[in-house]
Amino acid sequence: MKLLEYEGRRLFEKYGIPVKKGKVAETPEEAGKIFEEINKTVVIKAQVPVGGRGKAGGIKLAKTKEEAIQKAKEILSLKIKGISVKKILVAEAAEINRELYLSLTLDRSKNKVLIMAIKEGGVEVEEIAKERPESIYTDYYDPLRGIAPYQLRNMATWMFEEKEFQKKLVNLTYNMEKLFKECHASLLEINPLVISGNELIAVDSKVILDDNAYFKYQNIIEGKDLSYEDKKELVAKEYGLSYVKLDGLIGCCVNGAGLAMATMDIIKKYGGEPANFLDIGGSSSPEKVKKAMEILLSDKNVKVIFFNIFGGITRCDDVAKGMVEAFKEIKCDLPVVVRLTGTNENKAKEILKELPNLIPVSSMAEGAQKAVELVR
Ligand code: GDP
Ligand code: MN
Repeated sequence: MKLLEYEGRRLFEKYGIPVKKGKVAETPEEAGKIFEEINKTVVIKAQVPVGGRGKAGGIKLAKTKEEAIQKAKEILSLKIKGISVKKILVAEAAEINRELYLSLTLDRSKNKVLIMAIKEGGVEVEEIAKERPESIYTDYYDPLRGIAPYQLRNMATWMFEEKEFQKKLVNLTYNMEKLFKECHASLLEINPLVISGNELIAVDSKVILDDNAYFKYQNIIEGKDLSYEDKKELVAKEYGLSYVKLDGLIGCCVNGAGLAMATMDIIKKYGGEPANFLDIGGSSSPEKVKKAMEILLSDKNVKVIFFNIFGGITRCDDVAKGMVEAFKEIKCDLPVVVRLTGTNENKAKEILKELPNLIPVSSMAEGAQKAVELVR
């Protein structure tokens, strides 16, 4: 889950990473009021979940209230990379002496966190990585042990000659690590981190939290703007379903992640494309199955639905009950291929007699073939 800049800044404030004072506004008038509160030159920034806002005209300075209102109006009417600007951040502008780059990223291939620092900031890090990889400082730490103090000192002495800034950078990075760990982040990026007078200030924030830990940080991000998230994935999260939208036409509803993967594979084997990964998990209550159906049907690409249930950790009759309830409330004109096997299979088949339009199959391969055929 990607946070907007102002949401990331709130976490920065909470964890002692220095930022300039600022507030969010949705109208030019609000921006004017915030200017009055700050009463210094402000920077007005479009709050959209994409980078390169500066170049797109989404970041402007304002020296007076009138100017703040005018610039806010301009930015609020922009579309940046196809996304309309609905919110702006109005913050005290930092005087920038130098721009730097600092980030922590989870590197899954190494089971470690990558620390990256660059003596220039405000530029695309990917470009620097391509053109001048030697100018990037990198180091790794084990997330369970944390960053060792010597690692922080090494990085800080590489970045700065001045003791004063070295010390500030050590503290700031230490706080970043704490935020990274406690908020289950997979990316924390400050680009640019700036020297402003004798301060180090985070002028931008990019924060991505690990979706797998959603239940742990739900409270941390209370009030988060969810308008840029995939709605189906949000509903799935809320009901304890694992859902990932894909581009195919066959909607899959499966219990267990392994079986869900296998189902996608076998659909591909027979020449089809899955529309999603959807694991309804064990102990599948009828309620969960109903939600799963709603999610599947809200994807307009889906042309066939394939239920592949192995009643080991879940009971087939529970899934069947869920299907009956779901079809009572949801209108579904799509063909539904069903393979149910395992615990309480016979009970389930009895229950499903209420739904004469289902297409029962006896194996996973048969189901996949049938679904692919129906799509054609
Ligand atoms: P991005 O382009 O979406 O990554 O947005 P950033 O927040 O990184 O801002 C882009 C650029 O705008 C920065 O590199 C700065 O040069 C400039 N900028 C942003 N905030 C300030 C500020 O408070 N003061 C000044 N002087 N420039 C700023
Ligand atoms: Mn930036």
